[in-house]
Amino acid sequence: MPELPEVETTKLGISPHVVGGKICEVIVQRSDLRWPVSPELGEMAGVVFVSVKRRSKYLLLETDSGQVVLVHLGMSGSLRLVPPAEEWRKHDHIGITLSGGLQLRYHDPRRFGLVLVVPLSEIQTHPLLKNLGPEPLEEGFTGAHLHAALRGKTIALKVAIMDAKVVVGVGNIYASESLFRAGIHPRLPAEKLSKPKAERLVAAIKEVLTESITQGGTTLRDFLNSDGQPGYFKQRLFVYGRKGEPCRVCETPISHAVLGQRATFWCAVCQRR
Ligand SMILES: [Zn+2]
Repeated sequence: MPELPEVETTKLGISPHVVGGKICEVIVQRSDLRWPVSPELGEMAGVVFVSVKRRSKYLLLETDSGQVVLVHLGMSGSLRLVPPAEEWRKHDHIGITLSGGLQLRYHDPRRFGLVLVVPLSEIQTHPLLKNLGPEPLEEGFTGAHLHAALRGKTIALKVAIMDAKVVVGVGNIYASESLFRAGIHPRLPAEKLSKPKAERLVAAIKEVLTESITQGGTTLRDFLNSDGQPGYFKQRLFVYGRKGEPCRVCETPISHAVLGQRATFWCAVCQRR
């Protein structure tokens, strides 16, 4: 599933080709995504993209018409840039041809994604965006913020940090890996996280996500590769998916449990409560 680092890499990959581009043509082959594709998308010829931003796992393609094309890649979506004449692959649903000579192609086998047109003035209050917590890589996300956000929460810490109201973009793999790096047990009741541990955990979340984005940078050329899926990164994992394998630090077999219905991995020695 595309996580925050993949979405950020998509943003970086498409931006140079999309920003400043005028829409020449919009082709919608299938509009029955998780939310139906906005009919306004088909009426955007002549509009120019002025920026590509990311909020949580949403891409915001802002235009000079006061409209934003809001894209979410769902479970299996991807964007790539192709020559407009290139054959449509199975599950290519939308093509936006740009004045620069390339077409932005939206591909989504499971159709859990969405492509909506939202007025810029309504983007902050849009139901999909208005309740999102802080961005993990922005300065506002600090140990003090996390500590305050977890006050009164008795659920497991790992479940809490995956709640988008606490912080956005900490997916399942990143939650396990960040807790390992910070040396904190995933089952710790969230409200029991001390301030120093909150500082450590915030630093770990930022590091894990930043490393993944940096690694994704090497796949940027794939956005121009006709048969390329933008790569999902094979970061070196310390605990995730390593049940029973030796901890890379202390060689204790990695523990596994299901927390909040998600697979969770930790080292019982390196991650004390
Ligand atoms: Zn260990």
